[in-house]
Amino acid sequence: MSAGQPSDQTGAYCAAESPGAALSHSADSLALSTADTIRVVANARRIVVKVGSSLVTDEGRGLDRAAIDRWGAEIAALRAAGKQVVVVSSGAVAEGMKRLGWTRRPSEMHELQAAAAVGQMGLAQVYESCFSEHGLQTAQVLLTHEDLADRRRYLNARSTLRTLLELAVVPIINENDTVVTDEIKFGDNDTLGALVTNLIDADVLVILTDQQGLYTADPRKDPAATLLPAVRAGDPRLEAIAGGTGSSIARGGMITKVRAAQRAARGGASTVVASGRLDSVLKRLAAGESIGTQFVADIPRLAARKQWMADHLQLRGSVTVDDGAARALRAEGRSLLPIGVVEVQGDYERGEVIAIRDHQGEELGRGLSNYSSSDTRRIMRRASSEIEAILGYIEEPELIHRDDLVLR
Ligand code: GLU
Repeated sequence: MSAGQPSDQTGAYCAAESPGAALSHSADSLALSTADTIRVVANARRIVVKVGSSLVTDEGRGLDRAAIDRWGAEIAALRAAGKQVVVVSSGAVAEGMKRLGWTRRPSEMHELQAAAAVGQMGLAQVYESCFSEHGLQTAQVLLTHEDLADRRRYLNARSTLRTLLELAVVPIINENDTVVTDEIKFGDNDTLGALVTNLIDADVLVILTDQQGLYTADPRKDPAATLLPAVRAGDPRLEAIAGGTGSSIARGGMITKVRAAQRAARGGASTVVASGRLDSVLKRLAAGESIGTQFVADIPRLAARKQWMADHLQLRGSVTVDDGAARALRAEGRSLLPIGVVEVQGDYERGEVIAIRDHQGEELGRGLSNYSSSDTRRIMRRASSEIEAILGYIEEPELIHRDDLVLR
């Protein structure tokens, strides 16, 4: 990943702050027994429900009021059982296309954004009217990647969402498609769902889709494929069996769901991928039924601030470190000092999250830089005792303090 490019690799971040869920299954079996895992939704207090475009717009035919009404009834039942629910809904572009009479998804960004602006009106309207039938008050929240990358905006978004939940309002979240560019897009709402899960510390992410869950192979091509009822979110084999996207309407395929589950697991949340067309799917999950595929959060949980750093999809810069510094970071748990830095990439300010790379360009970790890119260029390869003489000031002797660092 170079500076400014989206990273698919953040699922690999780990830390030892708390142990992962202890699973009593042999490490080499892909499928877990559901016996001790099926109650994640039943036990959850805070749930993020992500619904995909093809469900919300009935394969692009137009907003599916009946489906949205059904989810409203189910979410009302979850709320009555004391659970807080946030919805992440796609469908703005698909609905906008329908309203504008477009049959093919445009390739131009500004046309997609225009469609999203038109469609988001419809989404908000239908959620509001369908959910209010079930006594639920809704709020529209549109987020961009920058809202979550900037620490202050991130904290702000978090407290607004928490306030809405305390007020018993159901936030309906989507990406603010009209203002983002390709480079800064979340990309798909599965990723957004996972980031929201981490943002509000939800216990479980439920991804409702037009498929039954994750299969051992692509069920559209391989009739022998079987559904996996439960897997470990961190199992590296999942990406290989997840394949690509299968719809012209939806943005994400199974692969983005697998990665979303990895991200959510790092925040301590399990993920369930299930068909949104099944009757009472949310209620049945909440009753402890095993439906779809459950991705059990089995990887060590990151502390909230470290998780925020690991969740950055794009970074504006990075530093390359020498072997000694790489070893000190990895094996000795040290901070990164300017003397270990041999090159600076990109343009960033003090306080931004940057990547730390080894000579091969491999990301070792990331952290909050105490110095801007231009100041880092001046103090790299120099002892910390020289910082003040070179810059005329000193912030900290470390370039990135251990506490502000998350290793891969
Ligand atoms: N934000 C996009 C929309 O509402 C959808 C992205 C996705 O489906 O993953 O159309």
